[in-house]
This record gives sequence, C-alpha cells and structure tokens, in this order.
Amino acid sequence: MKPSLTIKGLHVSIENKEILKGVDLTVKGGEVHAIMGPNGTGKSTLASAVMGHPSYQITAGSVSLNGEDVLEMEVDERARKGLFLAMQNPREVSGVTNSDFMFAALNNVREERGQDPLSRMVFGNDYLKQAAAMKIDDQYAERYLNEGFSGGERKRNEILQMKVLRPSIAVLDEIDSGLDVDALKIVGESVSDMINEQLGILLITHYERILEYIAPTHVHVMINGKIVKSGGRELIKKIDEQGYDWVKEELGIDIETKPARSENPYMLGGPAKGK
Ligand code: ADP
Ligand code: MG
Repeated sequence: MKPSLTIKGLHVSIENKEILKGVDLTVKGGEVHAIMGPNGTGKSTLASAVMGHPSYQITAGSVSLNGEDVLEMEVDERARKGLFLAMQNPREVSGVTNSDFMFAALNNVREERGQDPLSRMVFGNDYLKQAAAMKIDDQYAERYLNEGFSGGERKRNEILQMKVLRPSIAVLDEIDSGLDVDALKIVGESVSDMINEQLGILLITHYERILEYIAPTHVHVMINGKIVKSGGRELIKKIDEQGYDWVKEELGIDIETKPARSENPYMLGGPAKGK
C-alpha cells in the first residue's frame, strides 16, 4: 500500500497568534509536493506542527498518516511510523554522536516495521557507504550531532539521515538554503534518487533551483497561512520570474511579508543563511 499523509483544515497558533489558517493537503507515495511562498507565511510552521513540535498549538483540523491520527501520536512515535522532517535550521545536540543518533533512530523505525535490529557493524557499513555517496567525511560519524557542522554540512547530514531511515513521508524544509552549487547538486540528486511509490515528499522551498533536481508532481503556493493556489510545474517558472505579486493580484489578497522564524532574533538558530 502506498503511504499517505492527509492534512485537513489545519489551524495552528503560536503563543495564541494564528499562523496557519486552514491548510488542506494530501501527499501520497510517489508524489512530490512543493510548497512555495514568501518568508513568514507559515511553511515551517506546517512542518513543525505535523512533526509535533510542542510550541505549536493545533486549534483545529486533522493530520493522518495511513489513516492513523498523527496528532494523537507522541513525537517519537511519528518518526517511528515513518514521518521524517529535515529541518530548516537543524539543532546541535551535544553528547550524542551523529552515528549513535542514526543507529538508534534506525533501529526504532525497524522495530516499528517488525524488522530485526541491525548490528552496529552492519549499520556502520551502510552508514559509511551512504555518507561517502553524499561526500560526507567519515569523521562526521563520531562528531556530536551537528556540532561544528557548517550550514551546508547540516543540510547534507539531514539528507543522509533520510537515506538511512527510509521514511514513508518526508517533510523537507528549505534543504537548499545555505548550499553552494556542488552541495545543492548532491542534496538534490540524493533526494531525487530516493523517490519511489513508498515515499511521498513535502518539499518546502522558496527557490526554484532545488526543483531542477527534485521534480515536483504538485506545486502549492502558501500565503498568510493558507494554500491559495495549487497546480503543476508551470507555477514554478512564474514564481521565479515574477515573485508572488501576481498571485496576490489574481486572488485579491494582501500579502503581509513577515520575517521568517529563522530571522527572528528571539529564535534559536540565528539568521537564515543564503538569503
Ligand atoms: P516560513 O517558514 O514560511 O518563512 P514560519 O512558519 O517560520 O514561516 O513563520 C510564520 C510566522 O510565525 C512568522 O510570523 C514567524 O515570525 C512566526 N513564528 C514562527 N515560529 C515562531 C515561534 N516559535 N515563536 C514565535 N513566532 C513564531
Ligand atoms: Mg521557514
């Protein structure tokens, strides 16, 4: 059976301020849904809410994975059931090495799928093979998670996690920001190579360049916490050339451009790179 993530009428608030104002979206295995939109429009909020970040209050709506209620699941359960998030600003975690983290995460996922745990050795060999394919040096295996990783290394490492974990639905939040052209190619091609009927992708971006590597099957425009337009790849070119003003004109809506979360000085992670 193909995996599916179904989001219906999702309303999300942060500190009692409504950010998402009714999002409907269904992502199935084999599909790549690109969500594009100006900064501060709620794209990362959607990703965080689906993954269960505690700061985000779901005030209405539903999210289900293969028919199961995601909002009822604990955060780690969501990951075990096959949801994966590559974060816009991956955090540093001291005291946990990169390979320990992936080893534990993979065996949790395997347990949920009814598979035997992998031995450290078998895991290690697979990890090194996948890391080499992403041009991630072996020494990163024994470094603390994301500690001292450059922005581009963090992004590559997120995709390495995805390759190791083989999720059924992956939410990729601006995996292209802060990448130089070579890293963009590695990340883009690695994701593209993973696409199959057992993987659905929600790809959040505000640049079209990553979409040259990862071809979306559906394109959505999010403005002010709502998906206001959906279509195919023709939307990408138009947004690249004309920005979002035409959407505003077409639909007669006001675009408030707010700072993205990563540019909010009160947030961890500091200013977004590569913008
Ligand atoms: P996008 O990813 O589309 O750039 P975000 O989802 O990061 O937008 O942010 C949407 C809005 O929510 C912005 O106005 C942002 O400042 C606000 N916001 C997001 N996360 C937080 C948070 N943890 N605390 C306070 N405000 C937040
Ligand atoms: Mg964002």
